[in-house]
Amino acid sequence: MEIEREKVREFRQALLRFAQKTPSIPDVEIEVPEYLLGFGKPVFDAEKCWGCAACKIRCLDGALEVREDGERRLIVLYPWKCIACEECAKLCPKEAITIVHSINLREFLSDEPVVCVEHDVVRCENCGKPIGAAKQVDEVFSQLEGAGYPPSHWRRSKALCEECRRLLSARMLIESWGIELA
Ligand code: SF4
Ligand code: SF4
Repeated sequence: MEIEREKVREFRQALLRFAQKTPSIPDVEIEVPEYLLGFGKPVFDAEKCWGCAACKIRCLDGALEVREDGERRLIVLYPWKCIACEECAKLCPKEAITIVHSINLREFLSDEPVVCVEHDVVRCENCGKPIGAAKQVDEVFSQLEGAGYPPSHWRRSKALCEECRRLLSARMLIESWGIELA
């Protein structure tokens, strides 16, 4: 059965309005019957997740967000926005997400996001911009190594963001034409 997004959202807004008038909401996990469509949440397996953020891109309801917090990349969930559509779980390349039909009442009736997974961040050696989660960067480069790509190719660009990598390639091309750059 199709989840009626608009109806679920309106219902949630009503729940939130009541919650804001309630002095203390119990910190309890509540099972939601499966027939009550649109309630549930993704649970992340931190061991499997490599921090690619594909789930966040897939979530059309804005329930997932990726934040850079210093040297950490956080995947956070706004529980009240999640309609348990399972799209993030279907897309995850690492099968790191399970959708459960339960909600934490306090988390659900709050506007605050919940941190689901944390990763170390790799920064571009040239400009300092975050490149991605260390786990993903390491895994991709060890796959390249395993696939027999010449190390001179990937080692050089390992710690550069896309823009700096492009600039480096352009510089190398121009220099190969015998033109000296400053
Ligand atoms: S849960 Fe899956 S899709 Fe989301 S960041 Fe982790 S590996 Fe990527
Ligand atoms: S289950 Fe659907 S709404 Fe919930 S986080 Fe995943 S993609 Fe977003």
